This record gives sequence, C-alpha cells and structure tokens, in this order.
Amino acid sequence: MLDDFSDKLKAFYTAVSPVQELVTELSQEKSVRIFVKRDDLIHPLVMGNKWRKLKYNLQAAYSAGIDTLLTFGGAYSNHIIATASAGAHFGFRTVGVIRGEELSVDSNNRLIEVSNLGMRLYFMDRETYKLRYDVSLHDRLRDLYGQIYIIPEGGSNELALKGSSEIVPELPQRYDYYCCSCGTGTTAAGMASTIPLDSQLIIFPSLSKIKEQESLVHSYARSNNVLFNTDYLFGGYAKSGSDLTSFMATFQIPLDSVYTSKLFYGVYDLLRNDYFPRNSSVLLYHSGGYSLE
Ligand SMILES: *Cc1c(COP(=O)(O)O)cnc(C)c1O
Repeated sequence: MLDDFSDKLKAFYTAVSPVQELVTELSQEKSVRIFVKRDDLIHPLVMGNKWRKLKYNLQAAYSAGIDTLLTFGGAYSNHIIATASAGAHFGFRTVGVIRGEELSVDSNNRLIEVSNLGMRLYFMDRETYKLRYDVSLHDRLRDLYGQIYIIPEGGSNELALKGSSEIVPELPQRYDYYCCSCGTGTTAAGMASTIPLDSQLIIFPSLSKIKEQESLVHSYARSNNVLFNTDYLFGGYAKSGSDLTSFMATFQIPLDSVYTSKLFYGVYDLLRNDYFPRNSSVLLYHSGGYSLE
C-alpha cells in the first residue's frame, strides 16, 4: 500500500521541472548568465515550493493511515490552496483553519476556489488563531474533525525541509549564486543545506521581521555562504509598489506580487549595479505563486 502511494507521488512529479536561461540585453552586457528553476510549472495549483513542502507530509499522513489533512493560513494563503488541491488530487479530505472569524466561504475568489476543491473551512477568531501551534487547540480540532494530520501554517516543518532540500540536487549544473524568496524560511533553509560550499545563497524576504528565518537558515547552512538581502521588501508582506507592479507586468515569465516579483526585481537590480562578477552564473528559484485574485 505504501509503495502504491509512493508511486502516486512519483507519478505526480515525473518530469523534473525545467531550468530556463533568461538572456536579456542586460545579462549580455554584464556577461552574467541568469537561470530560473521553474517549479511554478509543476502543477497549476500544487506547485512551487508548496509541492516541495507537502510531498513528504502527504506520504507521512498516508503511512499513518490518516485521511484528513488540516492546516492553517490567511485568507489568501498559497499554502491553503496547495493543500486543498493536493488533497483533491491524492484522495485526502482537507480542512483549512482560516484566520479571521468575520470571513466566510465567499469572502474572496481564493476561498471559493479552495472550497470548490472540497476543503472544509473553519474561520477562527484571531485570538484563538494565535494558539495554532498548541496541542490543546489541536485536540479541540480533533474533537471536531476526528483523526487529522496537522500541517503547520505555511506548510513548514521538518518534512517540508526534507522536500525543500531536493531542489538543488535536481539542478543540471553548479551556479555561483542561488537566489530565493523567503516567507517562513523553510525553502531557503533546504537550499542552504544543499548548495555547493563555494557558492552563495542570497535570500530575498517578503517580511520585514526575519529573526526566526535567519536563525532557521543559518542552522541549516553548511558554511557562511548565505545572506539575507532586505533591500527589496517594498514595505513588507503583501505590500507592493508601482515599480514592482510594472516590473511584474512586463517580465517575461509570470511572477506573483508577494514573493517572486521581489526576488526577480532584486536580482535584476543587483545585476544592474554590478553585484555579480563578469562570467558568473545566477540561479533563481521560481517558487510559484498564483494570479488568482
Ligand atoms: C509560500 C511561498 C514562499 C515562501 O516560502 P517559505 O518556505 O515559507 O519561505 C515563497 N514563494 C512563494 C511563491 C510562496 O507561495
């Protein structure tokens, strides 16, 4: 049975997501080669780093014989959509605990989408939501929903790290610089633990408070070759600016406004400012994101 499920997971992610080179006038002028690992192409909904983070959690839930996944998130969470969609695809029931008791299933298109995927939604008041890591709250949720496999907010746990550490080994070559977005820092930690020691990982956070992310990433890094660049926050999570908006609108591949647009904007700005030496190579990790409003 377990092997069946492993096969299902393998069948889902058969072709390794492609690496694409982005050649522009700027990259040619600077003699820097820019590559993108296109994890956004894995699946329309279960994609990007959300797939990396869910993969071993799905396996663990299945092995434990639990058929319901429960997770937490905001009304626009990418992780909530990915979980709803993965549940539908792999045959799990799903429950989404959404922050904000004032919300309802039809508050926005994303919530409509996840409920159409079969996810049951529990709208939790913000005070109770703060207890989302507490066992006592988990017990109350078990009283409501029966046996549940709980995935933390953002999908971030040890198994998510394991999934995220598979990105770099999949790449066809070594790069001088690896660049990624950062929310909880789980994806960055997975990459930090696997990049070559003589390369550098540059992490572009979307949140201004990053103490926990820094300590997580540094605890997984194998050397000092990791740095956070906070010059491209654009005011923080879910904030944007007209510069960023026009960059996104004209960029040659789809980007989301919370994470990947800041990453790509930042890398191209560094490129313009001669941060990357001539003849170096840069790999951007495209972690996905949705254009659903
Ligand atoms: C969730 C998400 C991130 C943040 O990933 P972490 O592992 O939490 O740092 C980055 N990019 C996209 C597109 C995401 O959906």
